[in-house]
Amino acid sequence: DHLISQIAAGEVVERPSAVVKELLENALDAGASSVTIKLDEGGVKRIAIIDNGRGIPADQLPLAVQRHATSKIASLEELENVATLGFRGEALASIASVAILTLTTKTADAPHAWQIENGKITPASGGQGTTVDVQDLYYNTPARRKFLKSEQTEFGHCAEVVRRIALARPDVSFSLSHNGKMVDHWNVSGFDKRSASILGDSFSSARLPIDESAGPLRLHGFIGLPTASKGRADAQYFYVNGRFVRDKLLTHAVRAAYQDVLHGDRYPSYVIALDLDPALVDVNVHPSKIEVRFRDSRSVHQFVFHAINRALAQTSA
Ligand code: ADP
Ligand code: MG
Repeated sequence: DHLISQIAAGEVVERPSAVVKELLENALDAGASSVTIKLDEGGVKRIAIIDNGRGIPADQLPLAVQRHATSKIASLEELENVATLGFRGEALASIASVAILTLTTKTADAPHAWQIENGKITPASGGQGTTVDVQDLYYNTPARRKFLKSEQTEFGHCAEVVRRIALARPDVSFSLSHNGKMVDHWNVSGFDKRSASILGDSFSSARLPIDESAGPLRLHGFIGLPTASKGRADAQYFYVNGRFVRDKLLTHAVRAAYQDVLHGDRYPSYVIALDLDPALVDVNVHPSKIEVRFRDSRSVHQFVFHAINRALAQTSA
């Protein structure tokens, strides 16, 4: 089972940033309003995520870090299924199989916190919420460790994951530090302010608000004006029902809308959210992937294209 865990972990936690993503999602699922992320050596040495969410009741602690569905993956064939479809409820177990994981947690009504490490539960100190401390990632899977890039590159991926999530949740404060130094801090604010502080001054001084609806579709956020759009190739944030996605169809629709106003190899910058009836989209294609499948991709493409195109046309008119 340990081997299966390790192989499966490769799918779920392919690099430090994937661990950061899973842990941040857990913190937000727990209703946290404040999340602190502390990384050492690009996350390889240490990833600690501290939240003030509802915590885990002591009696559920062993279950939280256990593979819930071991019987589900009894053969290689099934393992392959898992690899393509992904699985939920296994992030902590997967992380624990390739790193030293310590979880400290306290619910509102517990008299004190509890800590679990290596299956052992002991009383601990600490306020309400959960701290997940992940050390020495891939210490027991040297082959995977070899695939990791430089410390700065891995940290860059982690920081990008934090930005993506922080953009979608301005109602939560985030703080990110690396090797003991604070890198980013965002207080609770509105989407307007959060996106300005994450995308920077050049974006906020030349951006257009967008908010359009058609039937079950709503597109809202900010798009960069062409003049300001020589910026980062990665300053493109698209969310579908609150989840960050990088989807070919959506990227294409945006680029096509910018086509007449953007020249050369410039990139448009944007932070936009598409909200629609969850029944019309599948965002859980793969746990580590960020693609989506729309029931009616043609009309989504047209809607996004026209909404952005119209907004841009108004400025050049
Ligand atoms: P999943 O999130 O898919 O259920 P995980 O392995 O990520 O699976 O987490 C297992 C369980 O542990 C969660 O369902 C949740 O009950 C609990 N949990 C994990 N992280 C936290 C957290 N930060 N705060 C509260 N509960 C948590
Ligand atoms: Mg989870």
